[in-house]
Amino acid sequence: MGLGADAEGRYGVLYASSLSVTRELGRAGKMAVWQCSACGFEKDARCKPQKCPQCGAKASFGKKE
Ligand SMILES: [Zn+2]
Repeated sequence: MGLGADAEGRYGVLYASSLSVTRELGRAGKMAVWQCSACGFEKDARCKPQKCPQCGAKASFGKKE
C-alpha cells in the first residue's frame, strides 16, 4: 500500500520536528526578571530588554534574579 508508507513517512517527520520544538521551548521557556537601573521598572522576559518602556533608557536593564 503506497498510501500507508506515505503516511508513515509524514508522521515520522512530524514526530521528529515536534520533539525538537519541545526541546527548544524547554530551553528558552525560562523567564527572567529584568530591572531598569534608571527608574526601577521591572519586566519579565526571556531576553534582556533593549529599551525601558517606562523611562526610555537604553541598555539600562540588569537581571534581578
Ligand atoms: Zn526605566
